[in-house]
Formats: sequence, structure tokens, C-alpha cells
Amino acid sequence: MIKLLKGLMITLSATFRTPVTGEYPIPEKRIPVKNKFMGFPALTYDFEIDEPYCTGCMVCIRNCPTVCMSANMKDNEKFTENKSSRKKIIENFEINLGRCILCGICVDVCNFDAIEMSHEHERSKFERNGNRVELPELIEMGTKYQQKTNWSPKQEKNRGTPKKPKDSPEK
Ligand code: SF4
Ligand code: SF4
Repeated sequence: MIKLLKGLMITLSATFRTPVTGEYPIPEKRIPVKNKFMGFPALTYDFEIDEPYCTGCMVCIRNCPTVCMSANMKDNEKFTENKSSRKKIIENFEINLGRCILCGICVDVCNFDAIEMSHEHERSKFERNGNRVELPELIEMGTKYQQKTNWSPKQEKNRGTPKKPKDSPEK
């Protein structure tokens, strides 16, 4: 009899317990991801200078184990106008997210805080190469992540107003 009552108590407590599972894909019933969640990589945006953090240095591209990234850089006009410390700036950037294994190596090797593992994770496509993402969308994913996590660059040198280029004449 006591065992029966114990069993009923367990059933009752489980009935009123807050659910620990989410209901996919109902948005309001899903469990939000934590800040440390690693979704697909995305590019961050420097709102202070109004340009991406990415200089197109290619370090992440050379270190990506699945060779799913490509990029081109160009001269940065804002550098010549003394508005930015980035001499070069990204022109095109593409990631084939269908091949990305979410390893985070690109984030670890970037010296400019220009790429982060965003919270983006629902990108199933029917086409074999339907998940190629270009610069504008990568920045859109990145800014969404920045706003959601109140992001700021990890490295001091990438923070704040642009430093004056060393070789510019004194005024
Ligand atoms: S994301 Fe970083 S490592 Fe990759 S090209 Fe841009 S600046 Fe270089
Ligand atoms: S997370 Fe890994 S596989 Fe994906 S783009 Fe970055 S380095 Fe490449």
C-alpha cells in the first residue's frame, strides 16, 4: 500500500512539473539557446565606424578544415580618410554552411574579432549547395548575434574609436 502511494506521489509531482522539453517548431514553446551555443559562423559589424570587422586577411579560410569559405579583400577608403584603422576591408565573403562542421576554428584564429559562432542553426535546404551564404547575410546573422548577446570585441585593439594610422602625417 505504501509503495502504491509513493508511486502515485511520483506520478502527481511529475504531472505538475515545469516541462523540460521544448515543442518544435512552435516558437513560443521552444527553449531559447544559451549565449555560449555554437551555431553557424557569422561576421561581426563595427557600428562605430560603419564597416565589418573583417579585413579579408584569409587566415580563417586557410585554417578551415572543410575548405568551405572563400573571400576577397579591397583597399579601405575609410583608412585613407583616416576614419578607420583597417587598411583593407572585406569585399566578398562566402561560406558554404552545408559543409561547415561548426568546429569554431575560424573564430579561434581570427585576429580581428570579425567572426563568431552565431546562434543560427536552422538552415536545412533541399538543394545540395543551397546553403552558400554571402557577405550581406553573414553580416545580418552576425549583427543579430551581437545584439542578442550584447557582444563586444574580445581584444582591446579591436575596441573603441579607430586608432590613427601610424604613417599618417601629424596635424
Ligand atoms: S574573419 Fe577574421 S580571419 Fe577571417 S578573413 Fe576576416 S579578419 Fe581574417
Ligand atoms: S566553423 Fe570550422 S568548418 Fe565551419 S567555417 Fe569555421 S573553420 Fe570552417
